[in-house]
Amino acid sequence: MILMQDSDCIFCKIIQKKAFAAILYEDEDIVAFMDIKPINEGHALIVPKKHAVLVEELDEELYLKLFPIARKIASRIKERIPETTAINYFIADGKDAGQEVFHVHLHVIPRRPDDGFRFIFDKEYYSRLLSEVDREKVKEKLLS
Ligand code: 5GP
Ligand code: ZN
Repeated sequence: MILMQDSDCIFCKIIQKKAFAAILYEDEDIVAFMDIKPINEGHALIVPKKHAVLVEELDEELYLKLFPIARKIASRIKERIPETTAINYFIADGKDAGQEVFHVHLHVIPRRPDDGFRFIFDKEYYSRLLSEVDREKVKEKLLS
């Protein structure tokens, strides 16, 4: 299969075996490897081989392959690293969502009690509950 790769992209380099990664899983379309800076032991990245920055650029078929692999890897992590009590599945889809490597990847992040990893919100967020009317308005905006 001929793949479109980006020569400046570290994940493309890994896919082409021009850079090292500890590869957990590989097939024709997907590769999964250990994160270089894990939040906890076992932190893995599930990556389509075709270079794409955003999820919306992936064909439906390819996109649908990511999650089953992530789920299998998550079970293996829980089995082999028993300190793991929970998992975050996470995609940073764009710079403002925290994306730092601009090649789509699904994080499988093993979690354990008090591991220090947090989503941080402004104080104001905690008092912001949307009324039923406002929720309906947003829904309509999305559906119209
Ligand atoms: P993002 O913030 O884009 O969702 O996450 C990028 C992830 O890729 C980070 O967790 C980071 O540690 C990981 N990462 C960045 N460069 C490399 C690399 O060269 N090799 C591996 N294995 N992981 C990397
Ligand atoms: Zn790439």
